[in-house]
Amino acid sequence: MSDGGGDFGRRRFLQGMAGAGAGLAVGGGSLLGQTAGPDQGSEPRRAPAVRTGQVAPDVAVVGAGAFGVWTALHLRRQGARVTLVDQHGPANSRATSGGETRGVRTSYGDRPHGRQWGEWAAEAMERWKAWDEEHASDLLPPVYFTTGDVILRDELTPFLERTMENWDAMGHAYELLDADEVRRRWPAIHTPDVSVALYEPAAGVVRARRAIESVAQVFLREGGELRIGRVRPPDSEGAPLEALSFEDGSTLSADTYVFALGPWLPKYFPELLGTRVRVRTLGHVYYVATPPGDDRFQYPNLPSYNVPGVTGWPALPSDFRGFRIRTGGHRGDDPDTSVRWIDEEYHDRPREVLGRYFPDLADLPFNETRACHYCGTVTRNFYIDRHGGMENAWIAGGGSAEAFKQGPVLGEFIAGRVLGEIPDEDELARSFRIPDEEFEADEGGPD
Ligand SMILES: Cc1cc2nc3c(=O)[nH]c(=O)nc-3n(C[C@H](O)[C@H](O)[C@H](O)COP(=O)(O)OP(=O)(O)OC[C@H]3O[C@@H](n4cnc5c(N)ncnc54)[C@H](O)[C@@H]3O)c2cc1C
Repeated sequence: MSDGGGDFGRRRFLQGMAGAGAGLAVGGGSLLGQTAGPDQGSEPRRAPAVRTGQVAPDVAVVGAGAFGVWTALHLRRQGARVTLVDQHGPANSRATSGGETRGVRTSYGDRPHGRQWGEWAAEAMERWKAWDEEHASDLLPPVYFTTGDVILRDELTPFLERTMENWDAMGHAYELLDADEVRRRWPAIHTPDVSVALYEPAAGVVRARRAIESVAQVFLREGGELRIGRVRPPDSEGAPLEALSFEDGSTLSADTYVFALGPWLPKYFPELLGTRVRVRTLGHVYYVATPPGDDRFQYPNLPSYNVPGVTGWPALPSDFRGFRIRTGGHRGDDPDTSVRWIDEEYHDRPREVLGRYFPDLADLPFNETRACHYCGTVTRNFYIDRHGGMENAWIAGGGSAEAFKQGPVLGEFIAGRVLGEIPDEDELARSFRIPDEEFEADEGGPD
């Protein structure tokens, strides 16, 4: 398996973005010679893929989660006419991207594509910050918080070693701490079984659904269109798609279609993805009440944390919904009907983890819980690929538990693929192909 497309594709994409002044600081960009948006800063701008005199392609992006909204925004900024479609709306409650918060880290020493994911995540951190800076004047509350991230382990595991190798190669800052130093810096953390801690100061947490809403809002402001409606699966996965067909009987035609359907992908494309995307586990997220008047469990006084099998972070301003902890999961195959609350039978595990590492929170109430589908792929990488059977359709998804953070970078890459700027033979593009291989019947749990 390729290590995320190798150095060539990886560097070329990131250098191309940096060198052209691309990304979120770029603002609206030129749309067929017209002024596109209010955010025309003095940064050098990336030349739009669609130039003056060309007919702008019509693209319909179905699915307004992390993959869809960022793709739609970048397509628009590259000059396409774009309609974003969602059955319920951006960051809706059943969408994977509709959660309260998502972590942003580059520690992927345990992943086959870890180095490449790490580089994209590092770039994404800069773009999340740029997003907040770009929109500060809109009175949008910030979405990105640099919390730092600390991984706590009882020994120096291969995951930690490989992560440090990646970081050394990337020139990414980190610190290796011992338990005494962890307690000195963050007295709220208890370290009964901790002997090593790997700290990534640049890591952070995004206010997830707010972020998606803000991207969708900016997309609309820059001339994109949003349509709420549920698209029917195509009658055949073997012919070019002429139009989207909605459940209310209406249609929408475009030149090109991007399906960013998250955990709905296998349901929508059973032939291609029924055995290549796994969505049968819903991850559990809890927001725990913090003691009133005690700010030890709030940003910026605690980093995000990772103990074996569990991640979480401090309560974030401005609404401090709670200290976040993710553990375990339950089964559910259909994202339209799966149960989204977390039954009390599962509450012992987070309480046990809190008791060990954050005992002052162990008996406090859960303010709220969230559950959403992990979306696993055979390659353990994202899928960004042509449908194959439907030549004008693209698939973008398979985010596993990791794609939210990558949104600002992913969206630009997907837009580049769809508009033909990044060719099929590009090494990085090839790493995101949908493989011939399928999941074995009992394979492919949470990733
Ligand atoms: C418990 C949990 C924790 C996670 N933690 C992190 C984390 O800390 N950091 C991180 O980076 N990532 C994390 N992730 C992963 C991340 O949230 C996902 O990778 C990402 O949100 C996926 O976005 P998406 O656009 O693929 O899917 P979604 O957000 O699910 O969007 C798909 C959209 O398609 C729409 N749709 C579906 N079918 C149709 C139809 N027929 N017609 C119209 N619209 C349709 C849906 O309404 C939905 O809005 C986590 C995931 C889980 C489950």
